[in-house]
Amino acid sequence: MRLILFGPPGVGKGTQAQLLSEEFGVPHISTGDMLRDAVSSGTDLGKKAKAIIDAGQLVPDDVMIDIVREVLSSPKIKRGFILDGFPRTLEQAKALTKIFDDLNIQDYKMVNLEIDDEEIVRRLGNRLVCVNDGKIYNMEFDALTPNSPCPDCGGRLVQRDDDKEETVWNRLKVYHSLTAPVLYYYKDSGDIYHIDGSGSIDIVNREIKMMVKGSAV
Ligand code: AMP
Repeated sequence: MRLILFGPPGVGKGTQAQLLSEEFGVPHISTGDMLRDAVSSGTDLGKKAKAIIDAGQLVPDDVMIDIVREVLSSPKIKRGFILDGFPRTLEQAKALTKIFDDLNIQDYKMVNLEIDDEEIVRRLGNRLVCVNDGKIYNMEFDALTPNSPCPDCGGRLVQRDDDKEETVWNRLKVYHSLTAPVLYYYKDSGDIYHIDGSGSIDIVNREIKMMVKGSAV
């Protein structure tokens, strides 16, 4: 399974990536999680990235490309990977092609999850994340509140700073202007699957598996 999960913030990439990662036993590579880890450990990268993330903007391409090149070069992705949150610009997409070429990775699929902006704002306003294991919950469906314990590991559930409504609209603006055009870069590859991301977690999970079933990835 070599899969790129593409789509706007809040469409469910992280949730689906976690599920697929467990089901297929391949690592979930989330550039957002890596940046948030860097912020909480106070590294130089984290210090630089925090203000950018909080403003809903993008971390510079060269930084992100180096991070992804390093993680894709590691032996742990030998059996595959689920890439979530990268590429987010045309520059990143071109760099990813080069990285795949250099690493001799030929077969991969891309799933584009689609949903409308209003639903995203609603979903992200309800999103809770465990500070310990990064698991994602929804206040409404899971009947949980900020600061309650994670049902899985007991860690504290929090709202992400960048899930505030104003920041979400900024993230959506960035998505529509810089990230969505990346789809055109991949449209001729024939490996993109468009899936309605507004269904339940189970339905979207099943559809992704049906789409990629039987393929060599
Ligand atoms: P995510 O968890 O994927 O929604 O990412 C959270 C934030 O991290 C984004 O809003 C960006 O500020 C930053 N980020 C994550 N991935 C990238 C990327 N590929 N390029 C630039 N910035 C990124």
